[in-house]
This record gives sequence, C-alpha cells and structure tokens, in this order.
Amino acid sequence: MFVGHFAVGLAAKRVEPALSLGTLVLASMMADLLWGIFMIAGIEHVQFKSGMGAANYLAASDFVMSHSLLMDGLWAGLLAAAYFLRRRYPRGAWVLFGVVLSHWLLDWISHRPDMPLAPGTHRYFGLGLWACIPAALIVEGGFWLVAVIVYARATHPKKRAGVYVYWSVVAVLTLAWYNNLAGPPPRDARMAPIVSFTFFSLAVAWAYWMNQLRSADAGT
Ligand SMILES: [Zn+2]
Repeated sequence: MFVGHFAVGLAAKRVEPALSLGTLVLASMMADLLWGIFMIAGIEHVQFKSGMGAANYLAASDFVMSHSLLMDGLWAGLLAAAYFLRRRYPRGAWVLFGVVLSHWLLDWISHRPDMPLAPGTHRYFGLGLWACIPAALIVEGGFWLVAVIVYARATHPKKRAGVYVYWSVVAVLTLAWYNNLAGPPPRDARMAPIVSFTFFSLAVAWAYWMNQLRSADAGT
C-alpha cells in the first residue's frame, strides 16, 4: 500500500496522542524506508517490467530483509524498544510495535503474492488488491480519506500553516499514490530507490512538522 500506511500513522495519533505523528509515520513506513536503504546498499533488488501500475510493473521478489513478517517483527521490536528506553512509556511502545507490523498486513492485502514470512522461506502471500485499480481506489482510498478526516478532527492547527501544510501534503501524497497505483514505471530504475527513499523521508519530516503545527489537545 501507499497512502494506506500514512493512514495508519494518522489514525494512530488519535489512538495515542502522546506519540508524535512523525514517529508514527516513521513506524508505519519503516519497511519501505528500510527497503530504500537496502536497495541503495545493494542488499535488496527490484526490477521493473513494462506495464501500468506498480502491481504490473514491479517485480520486487527480493525484499525479505525489509518486507518479511519475521523481519518486520524484529524492526518493530527495535523501534518500540528504542522508544521505550527514551520515554519509559509502555503503551506508546506497544502502539509503535503494532504500527510497524501493520505495514506487512497492508502490503499483504495490496501486493500480488510476493510477501515472504521470513528469510529462507519460499512461500509468498498477497491478496493482490492493487491489481484491481477500482477496488484499490475504494478500499485504500476510503481508508485514507477516513484517516485524513480522523486526524484533522483529533487535532487542531496552532497556526494557519497547520491547515495549508496539512491539506497540501495530503493532496501531494494522494497524487503520488495514484501515480504508483495506475501510472507508468520509473524511467530510471537505478535512481528509483533514491527517489522513493527521499520522498518517504520528506513525508516523515512533514509528519514531525505537522505534529508541531497541529496540537492534539482539542479546543485549547
Ligand atoms: Zn511496503
């Protein structure tokens, strides 16, 4: 998924307002951020075929370190432990653990069967939602829309920028998602990991900034 992962981060802010939206988005996007790092480092690989939409052009069979269930559990544990050591807040740590793991669940829903369980296993899972664009628009788009509204209602802007920066980046993410879902493959396959890692890092930075611009305590 794409905006579905951001939706988890936005909705989780309502569940646990003590966590920064930035940390929540970092958690929900952790598998894709690691994917970018591992591809740049040459540990994981991706090939692009021709065709429209990531479900058709993406051949990402080699992403077991970032996208297997076992490794995602490990990354989730590491992030939750790091947070706990810093803040000593068990509930926040558990929420982060769940948010990191949600990535596997959502990718399992959207990917064709290419999601591994653990390094060394050769069975792959996936319901393939993204192969049917209308269904993806309804399911993932619906979830995204609900989460965008939930976050907007659970927080309030401290300054006008809290409105503009929120809605303009929501629009950018929505367009980037649609382009991934239905658009052509990247022109430069070698640059693709760097472009996507930069884009997702900027999205995490936006989420930390939003957390500054919008306050979670209603009405004050
Ligand atoms: Zn992913």
